[in-house]
Amino acid sequence: MATANVSTTIQANRNNKPSIELLRPLANFPPSTWGDQFLSFSLDNSKLEAYANIIEEQKEDVKRLIDNPSMDSNEKLRLMNCVYRLGLKHHFINEIDCQLDKLFKEFDLKDYEDADLYTTSVNFQVFRQHGYKMSCDVFKKFKDCGSDKFHEYITTDVRGNLAQQVKHALMNPFHRGLQMVEARLYFVYYEEEICSIHDSLLKLANAQFNYMQLLQKEELRILTKIPELYIWILGVFLDPHYSEARIITTKIAQLVLVLDDTYDAYGTIEELRLITDTINRWEFSVMEQLPKYNKPFYKLLLNEYAQLEKRLSKQGRANRVNASRRAFQELASCFMKEAEWRNSGYVPSFQEYMNNGLVTSTYNVISVSCLVGMPEIVSEEALNWYESNPKILEASALLLRLNNDVMSFEFEAEREHQITSVHTYMKSFGVSEDVAIEELKKMIENAWKDINEGFLKPTKVLLGKIDLH
Ligand SMILES: [Mg+2]
Repeated sequence: MATANVSTTIQANRNNKPSIELLRPLANFPPSTWGDQFLSFSLDNSKLEAYANIIEEQKEDVKRLIDNPSMDSNEKLRLMNCVYRLGLKHHFINEIDCQLDKLFKEFDLKDYEDADLYTTSVNFQVFRQHGYKMSCDVFKKFKDCGSDKFHEYITTDVRGNLAQQVKHALMNPFHRGLQMVEARLYFVYYEEEICSIHDSLLKLANAQFNYMQLLQKEELRILTKIPELYIWILGVFLDPHYSEARIITTKIAQLVLVLDDTYDAYGTIEELRLITDTINRWEFSVMEQLPKYNKPFYKLLLNEYAQLEKRLSKQGRANRVNASRRAFQELASCFMKEAEWRNSGYVPSFQEYMNNGLVTSTYNVISVSCLVGMPEIVSEEALNWYESNPKILEASALLLRLNNDVMSFEFEAEREHQITSVHTYMKSFGVSEDVAIEELKKMIENAWKDINEGFLKPTKVLLGKIDLH
């Protein structure tokens, strides 16, 4: 998680022995640029309430539109696309599912024989986004039979600003982006969309945007100095309903970040062994054996989880706190393994690295911690599914691990004995750095395909409310 220049300096103390402080694998992280600016925010509850009232009013209108039995099916799918792109889908999950169920049962490839590219693409996207596996055959007529490539002429079949949208989507597909940012970008295009004739949808989107802005500033006031992590967590759940979940997960992510930097850029190997041992024992009584700098962290870690456990056990939900704690302990053990590899100069095989690296991607601990603050959807069945390590979760961890390694490769390489998937791939398969990076990028794209597939119906548990990638 490092982003700054690195310095490892060894100097001698009075006895000509290197001082432990100077042997630390330090990284010169810059100080936070945020300061206390969010602390001064004061939430105007009357404003928040006014926006909430507009949302409730307009929601009813939009629900009626979605349910409207006389609306043409293509128009309805366009409307659902706008709802999704404006970041409003959480208001209408049941209505949209019910309508899509009906429309998908009526799906007939013949209906698409005369459909233009725009209609075909929007319909395909809406069905797939909501987990309905609409056949790719709808695009056959736009392709050349021999080469299986799209006909040249379709590049002229674009409406208004669609070309710009396509360009943006090719660079950064919106289901891989942050919902909030993508929704903000989509506002620019929205006026030209056919569904902009529905006044209630625009009013709802505006009120929702202003409501979220106030709520997020308030959440940032509580969290103060860690907006980067908070924005990452906003990518998991945007729904205002998950305010508590966002705050809990951001706090745990901050603990994970400090732990990661302790292993990578501060602790000596002996200290890290002690830290790993105390995290696995998870008892206040062992705090004394820790190095001084790590004691406040350990105390905060145990207190934070104890408070969560106390609060959630009243609601019969302590099992999720325990799952998050177990994931945190596993993470510390896997960070330790990386530290031992670095310390002994051992370079593992790619497979050995990945077995450990999927855990140190931190995906597991963050995503299981997301479940801690979610009030209604985490049944025992969902937790069991989660802990069975399904393909969609493994693909997500792989994505995070490889993206992180490929992006930070040059920076990490400046530090002593850093081991990443790039190094281990080069060693295991005897290839150059460039080839290794290209192969890892292919694995990233394949992981996205596994994730997309995992969202298709029937899913084992309800995935509509959470974006696990
Ligand atoms: Mg690390």
